[in-house]
Amino acid sequence: MGTWPADYQEQLSGTNCILCAEGRPEESGARIRFYASATADGYLHSHGVQRGYCVVIWRGRHVVEPTDLSDAEAAAFWLDMIRVSRAMQEVYRPLKMNYQLLGNRVAHLHWILAPRFLDDVAPGDPLPGSGYHAFPEDEVRRDVAALGEALVQMHE
Ligand SMILES: [Zn+2]
Repeated sequence: MGTWPADYQEQLSGTNCILCAEGRPEESGARIRFYASATADGYLHSHGVQRGYCVVIWRGRHVVEPTDLSDAEAAAFWLDMIRVSRAMQEVYRPLKMNYQLLGNRVAHLHWILAPRFLDDVAPGDPLPGSGYHAFPEDEVRRDVAALGEALVQMHE
């Protein structure tokens, strides 16, 4: 059985939010940025259960629920997610994309996007939230470059 993070109440209130505290880094821990807009950053994780685990983080003020955004902010954040997903589909050619807006471990508003494959670690189910391992760094860097290139192509 899981537990809520020990500082979850502080995360919710924004007094102890790691995503607000980090600013907008190119790299942070186990993730590398490939997308940046006025409202969000998109990162590829270098750890996970399988390749292509991405996050799109809201980069305005501290927000937990999507319902806390104004209509204009919500529309912009939705489009951030769509653009990142289009790049991921170009690069990973998935069977299906998964979109998760959970916030159970990190409360600050973010989408988790994951490509799912025929040959997948959990066919027909959500991806497991544990059992993460590091991916080869050259593969991660190659994917970050390809995702960036896919985003450029979309704008041409
Ligand atoms: Zn925050």
